Amino acid sequence: MPSYPGSCFCHNITYNLSLSSPDDARTSLCHCGSCKKAFGTNYGLTAKVPKDSPHITAGKPREYAGDNGSGSMIHREFCGDCGSFICEYGDAVKNDFRYICVGSLDDPEVLPPKGEFFCQSRVGWMPEIPDVFHKKLIKE
Ligand SMILES: [Zn+2]
Ligand SMILES: [Zn+2]
Repeated sequence: MPSYPGSCFCHNITYNLSLSSPDDARTSLCHCGSCKKAFGTNYGLTAKVPKDSPHITAGKPREYAGDNGSGSMIHREFCGDCGSFICEYGDAVKNDFRYICVGSLDDPEVLPPKGEFFCQSRVGWMPEIPDVFHKKLIKE
């Protein structure tokens, strides 16, 4: 079973992501306003994985939960010491999936993106990623 280690910047939090196959992860960019704020960049990059795939091996992430704009709650987990963003999930999928921040993997190259969401909010200077799906919002 492939296993991918990750950590926050200060290494107080470490985790292991275990997947039966790399295809069990769906990495995507998201250009929505909520991701821009949470990641502090012009897009978010997460890998959607089954809920029990990530396993924290050291430390305990802090959680912030807030309204994601549509009345649904989003939960964001980050290191309380260095602030690295580790993981997020919405209430609707909390029993099924986690969205791992790909930059927190020790080797972010292992899970390349399969698509882009909220392309209508892409900043003007950023080109499309070739050969992946592109959704204006979430579904279309
Ligand atoms: Zn840290
Ligand atoms: Zn987003």
